[in-house]
Formats: sequence, C-alpha cells, structure tokens
Amino acid sequence: MAFKDILGNSRVKNILRKALQRNKVPNSMLLYGPEGIGKRDMALVLAKAMNCERKKDDACEVCASCKAINAGNFPDVLEISPEKEVIKIDQMRILRKIAYLKPMMGKKRIFVVVDADKMKEEAANSLLKILEEPPLFSYIILVARNPFMIMPTIKSRCQVLNFSPISKEEIGKILVEKGYEENKARIISLLVRGNLKQALSLEWEEVQDKRAKAWQLFLSLIRKGKVALFLKNYATSQRTLVRNEWEQVLEMLSSFCRDSILIKEKSDSRLLMNPDYEKEIKKEEALLSLEGLIDCLAKIDYAIYGLGKNLNVNLLVSSFFSYFKEWEYA
Ligand SMILES: [Zn+2]
Repeated sequence: MAFKDILGNSRVKNILRKALQRNKVPNSMLLYGPEGIGKRDMALVLAKAMNCERKKDDACEVCASCKAINAGNFPDVLEISPEKEVIKIDQMRILRKIAYLKPMMGKKRIFVVVDADKMKEEAANSLLKILEEPPLFSYIILVARNPFMIMPTIKSRCQVLNFSPISKEEIGKILVEKGYEENKARIISLLVRGNLKQALSLEWEEVQDKRAKAWQLFLSLIRKGKVALFLKNYATSQRTLVRNEWEQVLEMLSSFCRDSILIKEKSDSRLLMNPDYEKEIKKEEALLSLEGLIDCLAKIDYAIYGLGKNLNVNLLVSSFFSYFKEWEYA
C-alpha cells in the first residue's frame, strides 16, 4: 500500500509527503480521527516511505525495505497495540529501550502505537519521557480515535494531524468503482458515516434488514397512532445500541424523511435516496403535511448533529423520542 491507495484525507497526505520531501518528518506525531478511515494505514505508508530505498516521499512497494515492512518483518518498524484493550507500561518500557538503539536495517526507526487512547496513565508517563528527548533516528506515531483520551502533555509534544471522515459522496464513488450498483452504493454510504472499512464489509442483507426496521420506525413516527407504545419498546430494545448504530438508525430515518419530502414536492424520483421504497413512501404521503415532514427532518438532523458533536447519546436519544411522544398527543 502506498499513499495513492489510501482514500480520502488528501490534506493529511499532502502534509506528510511535503515533510518527507524536506526531510522534516516530526519525531512524534498523533494521528487521530474516527474509526475505519485509514489512520493506521497512513502511519505504515509513512514508515515505509521513510525507509524506502527508491522513493523519497512514498512507498515504492518493490524495494527490500518496503517488502519487509509489508510482511511485518522489518526490525526497525514496530507496531504496538493494546494487549487486552490496554497499552501497558511494559510495552512502553520496551519501546523506550529500543528507541535509543540505532536502526538495524533501515534509515529510521519507527514505532506505530495503535489505539494510543487506550494507554494507562503510567504507560503514558513512560512514553512521555522519550517524547521529551527523542533520539534523532527514532519516530513515534500515535494513532487514536479519541484525542481527548491522550494526556495533554503527550499531545503537546506531538504534531497533531486530524483525519476527517470520508464524505458520503466519496464513499459512494469508491463503492461504484469497486463494482457496486449505484443505488446500493448510495444506501451503504448513508449508513457508514465515513467509515470506508465498514462500507466494504457490510453485507447487503444486513443492510436491508436494518433499513426495513428503520422504515417501520419511520412509519410509526409519521402515523402517530401507536407511536408511544412502539417507541417505548423500540427505545428500550435499542438502549444498548452504541453511538455508531444510533447514527445509522437516524441517518436512515433522515433519508426516509427527505424522500417523503421529495415525493410530496413531486420532485424527480431519481433524487430519492431510497428508490426501492418509492411505492411505500407514496402510500403514506397523506399522513403528514409538508411542514410536519420538515419539522420531523429537523429533529432527526439535530439528533445526528448532536451525535457528531459527541453529545451524550442517551440524552439525545431520549429527547428525540420524547419529542415524538409529545407530538402524538399534540
Ligand atoms: Zn520502497
């Protein structure tokens, strides 16, 4: 894998390539951002580029160094990941010892610490010692989802690079390029919130199943009839859903709501996000006014926005559902 194989995040890519061209790669870096968008891949490509025998600002993938790093048997590039969900102090002690040894085969010694946000305080303190005085030939790349879990003293010693989720449009495009049907690609891209890895691993049946459930939920929202009961059951059964899954449910509700608005406005049906639900949506058209649908969409989108801002999931979900409960009796 070279830089061109990492999709999205061209801003980060450019920064790293420029640093490579100028021989100015920082000794300590923190790459952070949501899951499944290529942070670890980026760190490994950088490690390869720094040791590549042919290229200065990329991995050639054919030289002995690139090949050995790909095979995981290049002694100067080490990946460290949590053991039983925790990065332990012993792992950091070993890192510190090795970091002061000159590279054995390569030009630079590189440590990629995956899930660095799972580092306990004592391990972090141990790492801090080396970040304070890093040997010139050693580089430490921390990869994390949640930058708030990284000690500020560590963060302040790293060049921090933020990865953004790949846009829905980009994911859709990538899936089409990989041979997915356009409608399927669009629907999947809705569900994965920028997580390309997840997009590529989703089973279509599973997707359809989730959509069918979301459609039922949407129906009960707009039908008002037995919303309270349905929502109560739904909310209870879904309470254990993690943030990610809530985002999916809300994204699907949002897409059904948007499509309902499009149909009400008699827009071009090619614009629908759920073309396969066109008939069903039309059947329910009379249930809600345009204003009602727009209001509903605003509530859903606000909840999605709140999740994106890392607001408390339970709070958001309960306020979302209580809104619809009130609505029923209004
Ligand atoms: Zn190479």
